[in-house]
Amino acid sequence: MRYYVLDRGDQLSIELSEQFHKLAAERGFQLDAESPEIVVSIGGDGTMLHAFHTFIDHIPDVAFVGIHTGHLGFYADWKADELADLVTFMAGESSTSDRHPKIVKYPLIELDIQTKSGTTHHTVLNEFTLKGTDGTTVVVQVDINDEIFEMFRGDGICVSTPSGSTAYNKALGGAMVHPTIEALQIAEIASINNRIYRTLGSSLMLPKHHHCDIHSRKPQKLQLTMDHLNMSFDDLISIRCQVSKHQVSFARYRPYPFWNRVRQSFLG
Ligand code: NAP
Repeated sequence: MRYYVLDRGDQLSIELSEQFHKLAAERGFQLDAESPEIVVSIGGDGTMLHAFHTFIDHIPDVAFVGIHTGHLGFYADWKADELADLVTFMAGESSTSDRHPKIVKYPLIELDIQTKSGTTHHTVLNEFTLKGTDGTTVVVQVDINDEIFEMFRGDGICVSTPSGSTAYNKALGGAMVHPTIEALQIAEIASINNRIYRTLGSSLMLPKHHHCDIHSRKPQKLQLTMDHLNMSFDDLISIRCQVSKHQVSFARYRPYPFWNRVRQSFLG
């Protein structure tokens, strides 16, 4: 098996990473930074975002596994003290496993960002957000399937994937979405709503094959976050987003249903 390990860089994650390499070498796994079959992320859900973007050009060929060095997470669902068990599963040595894990696929969002200098294409695992950089009101026109939907004024907009629905989207009052539902969710960040300005005021979900365009409607400095990455513009024209044709794969060596993760993370 060709594998790669990415860790968060803290003491425990580094130690676990070294332990993983040792156990992997004993099984004859090959360390491969170029085209791994399995990428192991050690740290937290944030570390998985880094792992995802590191291998963004290999997404169709890679499956991810996450080990959490704090609490169990959404992407990182193995605990630190289960590392040896994970390697046993990966090697197909466990009595309850076979050599092939279940590959679970989650939807992604792709976006095309059009500025005066051109168009760039990106893919996100959790979400992208568009906000003002200097505390001024963001003014954007939101079109759905090429028809004007609303003129948004407020702090910003968050567009999340189903697996990202438990992250920033949740803090905005968005719905938790099961990752088998191929959709994206648009949530408002502090919209202005009064007799003059009106937005929907609740989050909405777009199915696959629908698209949304967000057009900048005044000269404004904007910050765009894409998962843990961010960039600023003062020349944004528009962003087109839709559910991606590609999906991210996670290797599951044992079941850990989404709703159990939601319950354990938020309800205890
Ligand atoms: P960070 O500040 O280190 O991470 C923020 C928190 O989000 C961490 O506790 C992380 O979990 C958790 N997280 C990441 N993906 C998640 C998911 N799919 N479901 C539930 N929780 C998740 O920042 P970062 O590591 O650079 O991560 C960027 C992410 O932070 C963004 O994608 C965004 O979703 C999130 N964020 C949230 C808010 C908010 O809730 N108000 C604001 C800004 C950004 P771990 O501790 O396991 O890494």
